[in-house]
Amino acid sequence: MTDFLERAREVVPPLVSFRAPMEVVKGEGSLITAADGRQYLDFSTGIACLNLGHNHPGAVRAAREQLDLLWHAGFATYPHRPLVEAAEKIAEVAPQRVEQVLFMNSGAEAVEGAVKMARHVRGRPGIIVFRGGFHGRTMGSVAYTTSTAAHRRRYHPLPAGVFTAPFPHPFAWGMTPQQAEERAVDGLRRVFRHEIAPEETAAFLIEPVQGEGGYYPASPGFLAELRAVADEHGILIIADEVQTGFGRCGDWFASQVLDWEPDVVVMGKAIANGLPLSAIGASKETFADWPYGAHGTTYSGNPVACAAACAVVDGLREALPGVAERADRAWKRFREMAERYPAIGDVRGLGLMIGVELVDGEGGRPGKEALEAVYRHSMREGLFFLPCGTDGNVIRFIPPLNVSHRHLDRALDIIESGVARL
Ligand code: PLP
Repeated sequence: MTDFLERAREVVPPLVSFRAPMEVVKGEGSLITAADGRQYLDFSTGIACLNLGHNHPGAVRAAREQLDLLWHAGFATYPHRPLVEAAEKIAEVAPQRVEQVLFMNSGAEAVEGAVKMARHVRGRPGIIVFRGGFHGRTMGSVAYTTSTAAHRRRYHPLPAGVFTAPFPHPFAWGMTPQQAEERAVDGLRRVFRHEIAPEETAAFLIEPVQGEGGYYPASPGFLAELRAVADEHGILIIADEVQTGFGRCGDWFASQVLDWEPDVVVMGKAIANGLPLSAIGASKETFADWPYGAHGTTYSGNPVACAAACAVVDGLREALPGVAERADRAWKRFREMAERYPAIGDVRGLGLMIGVELVDGEGGRPGKEALEAVYRHSMREGLFFLPCGTDGNVIRFIPPLNVSHRHLDRALDIIESGVARL
């Protein structure tokens, strides 16, 4: 261990495991530089936050200029330009029903806020979540999170009123997408029949593409069924787009790619390209029933983070048209790899949110060791990425959306050579 890591271990608790145990001193675009001068492609993207890459000039400039003007205001104290402009810009690109935007600080906080709002405006207790979903680490959001039981271990009892329905997982279930969709729809009916009635249900909370749970997109048919059930029973649909939003899936939000209309959209991560900011978006009508005093947080709508968010929307307008081409390039390579290497069990996702599930050659069991071997190889070759999935065996391929073809191809070559060695 280097001196710096020893120093870090003294004061940073072991919970913060540092997957890449090296001091990183600089980030620029798709690259990070370690203290020893080595450069790595950073495809962890700060856990899916840096959609415009490190140190994006527009976002840096906007934040820097705002720092000198006003760097804090506080919730419901007075409005300022970055707050209003960021809300306007986000409402313009967000799914159709979003007319107003309430800023929060983290994804979990925004998810909890959206759930509080749903209960408040509907006057009903029930929240239905979907197995494999991840919604954050606060006590409330842990109650909605089912990507792995490890996130809930030793925290029970969790807040009540949360019911879990199946999410279509064709690969894990060994089914065709159609069969998986039918099974998930049937599972939801059973929740209503056995656990909570639709008229007691305030909201469905769902990621249109499950992130931490393994990069599973919901099938359009399943989402359409949820919309129909929600409309029939006055249930709100909360789309957790914390990971799928801001261009990651090929459009501003995954809901738009999937041609689906949630009532409430939760955003975070890439919204300010890594500065801590999150938001709840919904219609004026929905927000109108959530009065002053019902919710709040001191740092809501931080001017510097909101200024960066404005620059992110501008930057994404430029980057978005190039996402499909980059995504095609990556998907083509991964599909070829999947045919060539039995260690690849499944390739799935949406746009540049790609999960490559590794399996153990004998019997197709989760290939956690395979993943760690590919990870070690990648680090040697200069690529840093994170895993995802309930079994930690899915390569999470999330480059910055403006990654150069050269860096994209290099990362794909490194992963291919790592998989080939298995
Ligand atoms: N929702 C989703 C879909 C996420 O992926 C995450 C974080 O990974 C969260 C919520 C929680 O966000 P945060 O870690 O900012 O609280």
